[in-house]
Amino acid sequence: MDKKEYLKSVDLLNLWAKAYYKDDAPIATDEEYDELYHRVLEFERANPSEISMFSPTKRVGGEVSEGFIKADHIERMWSMEDIFDEAELVAWLNRGDKLGQKFAIQPKFDGASLNLLYENGELKRAITRGNGITGEDVTTNARVIQNIPMKITYGGKIEIRGEVVISKSDFDDINLARMQRGETQLANPRNAASGSLRQLDSKITASRRLQFRPWGYGAQNLGLKNYSEIMEFIYSLGFEREEFFKICLNLEEIKTAYSELLNLRENKPFMMDGMVVRVDNVAFSNELGYTEKFPKFMVAYKFPAIEKTTRLVDVALQVGRSGVVTPVGVLDEVNIDGVKVKSATLHNFDEIKRLGVMKGDFISIIRSGDVIPKITGVFKERRSGSETPIERPHNCPVCGTMLLDEGVFIKCQNLECKARVINSLIHYASKRCLNIDGLGEAIVNQLFEAGFINKIADIYRLGANELSSLEGFKDKKISNLLNAINIARTPNLHSFITGLGIEHIGEVAAKKIARQFGDKWLELSYEELMSIDGFGDAMAESYVEFMQVNRENLAELLYFVTPKFEKFEVKQSDISGKTFVITGTLSKGRDEFKAILEAHGAKVSGSVSKKTDFVLAGSEAGSKLDKARELGVRVISEEELMEML
Ligand SMILES: [Zn+2]
Repeated sequence: MDKKEYLKSVDLLNLWAKAYYKDDAPIATDEEYDELYHRVLEFERANPSEISMFSPTKRVGGEVSEGFIKADHIERMWSMEDIFDEAELVAWLNRGDKLGQKFAIQPKFDGASLNLLYENGELKRAITRGNGITGEDVTTNARVIQNIPMKITYGGKIEIRGEVVISKSDFDDINLARMQRGETQLANPRNAASGSLRQLDSKITASRRLQFRPWGYGAQNLGLKNYSEIMEFIYSLGFEREEFFKICLNLEEIKTAYSELLNLRENKPFMMDGMVVRVDNVAFSNELGYTEKFPKFMVAYKFPAIEKTTRLVDVALQVGRSGVVTPVGVLDEVNIDGVKVKSATLHNFDEIKRLGVMKGDFISIIRSGDVIPKITGVFKERRSGSETPIERPHNCPVCGTMLLDEGVFIKCQNLECKARVINSLIHYASKRCLNIDGLGEAIVNQLFEAGFINKIADIYRLGANELSSLEGFKDKKISNLLNAINIARTPNLHSFITGLGIEHIGEVAAKKIARQFGDKWLELSYEELMSIDGFGDAMAESYVEFMQVNRENLAELLYFVTPKFEKFEVKQSDISGKTFVITGTLSKGRDEFKAILEAHGAKVSGSVSKKTDFVLAGSEAGSKLDKARELGVRVISEEELMEML
């Protein structure tokens, strides 16, 4: 980096920071910002005489915006130094004679920092971080956050600091509701938390299901020796306790804690962007003191970024088995947490319009767990003028037939469209359905092109003669595939129904039909289907229509296939007939608990209401637990459930 590039980078960082802090509308990802910031810092270390007075390294993050009353923190609210790898961790540990100290470890949640001032046992004031000295007074909004106590049993003056966060599931719920109302999507849980906290109308804040997770303190006079003791005291006042709170004695233990926490990343209900490491001893921390920007006694050991910036190169159109045309973003390949990502879903053309995205745009994408990468933002400020609009298609990209434009969905109605046929065959043979090993996408295409399969029943007509004429098919491969097809002559009924690919009838619905009606499955009426728990109009209609339209095809298929009916025996127990809601982090997946409950005759519902009998709550349960308490619904733990069975 030369001087010119350095000054340009400083301007760019300031622009990005303004968009992030002031406008809550980021135009760069954290990862990009961090990377450029690091390069600026390197230049400054090598050229201390050239440092610009506008450099972001000289400024504490965050500015105060108009609209709220400004208020000062009693003790400065520092931000933290970020470190990104083990070498930086070792360097930090070696600085200032920290060896031999105890280190307190906890997650760094990705939200908005908030400082709560309590006096005479009451919440006096809540201030955002702002520039660390002055923030915005958001007391009215803090009062609507359910797990911020209005009163505490301690009468002294104390500043309690923490992160305001939105759980990932609440965030998805909010965005789904916004999508249904035709509103723009919130970019990510952090921006949603920060934006919600700074609403001028606290009714909006209340609707966003914010939660407060304490991580520290400012002014206090408790006379306790260690940070961990102070946090223990804060938890005892009624604040949410952090389960992942450890004391580490050395580098090895810190490294172990880091990988443990990183493994929990997907399962934690809140987004985390790293782990905080801090010296536990308060007196020694004070001795270490501060740089002009950061405390020297604590550091944020960041996780690999899951949100990155890339470019939308093109939009590909995929035609699914139901004929729906889905736009898929083709991206400049980008590596996210070890996975190469080169496409992201754009959902539908309404979503493209809402995002306002064009071909050639810089965008941010997020990849979390095994979900399909999602576009979280469009950086319109970075346009060069060469971007081109994304047009709604009028003809099927595969068969050329005129498309039916239904608004949100655009469909190819040609039942013989190659894309529809091939995708329905792939679906039928897939793991979730008939699980025909060896009949994946490539082979289905090969068989279709050779003219051997045009519909599902054709799969069962395949023989060694046909297969041996295909390229790459040797004896072993042929007999393996024919064996797999043979096994698929007697599938479970629910797998078979799922495999038919009836619109709106997924695996869960197919299971319900199979369990409730067994051998009557072909002849179900609309009313019978509507009597199934969780079935709606669209599902019942779609099923009935499918059975009518495909009567002949099904008869042909059932000549080859004999589904096994699943008798569903329910063990009688104390919980038979009761309704459960599952929430929080449990020792096993929610699906497993759902299966246990259903096997004992209980029903599992997604939301808490007066009809709920029990809420099964794991750790870090959120809004559902609050709701249960509000309605007086009995809350039980895993252990209590096991005793009831
Ligand atoms: Zn088509």
